[in-house]
Amino acid sequence: MQNLLLDGFSDVPDFAGITPEQVQPAIKYVLADNLARIEQLLLAAEPTWENTIAPLEELDNRLHEAWSCVGHLNAVVSTPALREAHNACLPQLTEYNLVLGQHDGLYQACQRIAKSPTFAALTRAQRTSINNSLLDFTLSGIALNTDQRAVFSKLSQELSRLCSTFEDNVLDATDAWQLPVSAQQLAGVPELTQVAAAEFAHSKGHSGYLLGLNFPCYHAILTYATDRNLREQMYSAYVTRASDQASARWDNGPVMVDILRHRLQLARLLGYPHHAACSVQKKMVKQPQQIHDFLQQLVTRAKPRALQELQQLTDFARQQGLEGPLQAWDVAFYSERLRQTQYAIAEEELRPYFPMPTVLDGLFTLTQRLYGVTITEHVNTTVWHDSVRFFHVTDKDGTLRAQFYMDLYARPHKRGGAWMDECRARRLRQDHTVQIPIALLNCNFAPPTGDAPALLTHDEVVTLFHEFGHGLHHMLTAVDYPQVSGINGVPWDAVELPSQFHEQWCWQAEVLPLISAHYQTGETLPQVMIERLLASRNFQSAMHMLRQLEFALFDMQIHSVSDVDTITSAWIEQTLAAVRQQVAVLLPPAYNRFQHSFSHIFAGGYAAGYYSYKWAEVLASDAFARFEEEGLFNPEVGRAFLQTILERGGEQEPMELFTQFRGRSPQIDALLRHAGIDAS
Ligand code: ZN
Repeated sequence: MQNLLLDGFSDVPDFAGITPEQVQPAIKYVLADNLARIEQLLLAAEPTWENTIAPLEELDNRLHEAWSCVGHLNAVVSTPALREAHNACLPQLTEYNLVLGQHDGLYQACQRIAKSPTFAALTRAQRTSINNSLLDFTLSGIALNTDQRAVFSKLSQELSRLCSTFEDNVLDATDAWQLPVSAQQLAGVPELTQVAAAEFAHSKGHSGYLLGLNFPCYHAILTYATDRNLREQMYSAYVTRASDQASARWDNGPVMVDILRHRLQLARLLGYPHHAACSVQKKMVKQPQQIHDFLQQLVTRAKPRALQELQQLTDFARQQGLEGPLQAWDVAFYSERLRQTQYAIAEEELRPYFPMPTVLDGLFTLTQRLYGVTITEHVNTTVWHDSVRFFHVTDKDGTLRAQFYMDLYARPHKRGGAWMDECRARRLRQDHTVQIPIALLNCNFAPPTGDAPALLTHDEVVTLFHEFGHGLHHMLTAVDYPQVSGINGVPWDAVELPSQFHEQWCWQAEVLPLISAHYQTGETLPQVMIERLLASRNFQSAMHMLRQLEFALFDMQIHSVSDVDTITSAWIEQTLAAVRQQVAVLLPPAYNRFQHSFSHIFAGGYAAGYYSYKWAEVLASDAFARFEEEGLFNPEVGRAFLQTILERGGEQEPMELFTQFRGRSPQIDALLRHAGIDAS
């Protein structure tokens, strides 16, 4: 029987022809065959790029191409059979990656190539690929002596177990909490939330309404419930999840201590003073101190404005009848009322002006004006769903540069959210032809109904531009080596630059007419609505920024200690309290244990990396400011952004690339100006 995943796809993947039955045999075969062939490759007496790395990339590409199709289909058109086949491959893939990541032979081959006289003759992208591999090997502990290596691997395993315990505690503590409420208590709460609360009660065999601590429910109550006691109850339950203030069963206090100690010990084994110093090895910002300074600078500049915003909110709450001081559980509620009073612009009001065809036309026109590439739709019969569209990206001379799929609408059995995935990376094949990149753009917008096209909120337009920015980074790359082409090899704190940069276009008075037209009358967004929309962008932006800075500073500080004994539960709490004292404009109640459910840094990949969100915004704003300075549609600036950022992928240090584009290193001023915080 033919197995599409094994035979490869000549032009584009045959998504329609892939079946769940093909998955396991194909992946199993490729993994085993790759491992066998890698051992063969490593027999070369004198490892070189040509005899070792190039064929390795070929093997890696074969696996990537097959697995990316499986992973993608499982995310967008999942069936029980496909999910089962997908999940059955996961342990084998983990094992495969573990073997390669700890492979002494591969490590030595990379080292020998890096030390050979021919290394200097390789291209920059090739050298970076080798150096990245060497760094990954080093950070995985492969260079340690046998005893240390055993300790390292034990600590790593324990750490990953601790991280899942942390996450499990958060989930279990969240799920365990329920609060029965009356209809009266739900006054002000959106109908959608009320229906969900009734269904939740019903599912538990109760009548009436039942609230849980899942984020949508918590958020809706804090934002809309007029019952202040209810808001306080929800708030205190939410911010004490998995802590000593709630059930001891899920207390993450000791788990956090263990996680931080393990990270520190791992970093020390590798020769770094602390985890933050280890983490920056793979970042754009190379010094933890630089990150501290950058965050501190933003605090200093944003705090005066945030205090004004808080005062305005407090005054407004008083007018609305608030008695006593404004509390943490009042902020979202009065903020929403204030926002509605000030901007009276409902997202829904904007929808008719953003029909999908107009938005896409505008997006593609903008792309053409900025980067000189043309986007045209092509009918492709091998898609996974009728609503999926397929496009070619061509250069001025008509050369095909990239291809992409757009899967825009929500439907059952499709993962939520919006994301860009790479289906194929650009690379030079061994036969010297170029493999054209293919991107997968996925969103979950409401589909078209009846005769009307799909209509987007402005927020959704921003999401589309964001993902398309990632897509352009992946597709317009000029790098020929897959480890560093497109978004590959781009550090975590730089990879959101193109996406956040493209968001900026949705907030320009000159661009809005390009992407909007009332779906019935064809009228572009009226001036008065443009003004209100732009004004609403910066509502409470300083308070919001300070929240993120508080998290980022806390994250940096707890990962910047060098002494294991320093790390205790009380110390973690004091560290956060001290950061808040300096940063926050409204101090939360003493029982607040936000850190006990801060999964981003304790269970996810953001440890000593939470600052990346803000850092990427700085880069995006500062890059965009050059367009503001030299003309939004200035083709030269567009070409410069294309050639120094989008085309270069991960082949060069992002700080060097940014500096090439901007003529200097990044500055925070444009971000503050765009956020309406500091006009000077
Ligand atoms: Zn993104």
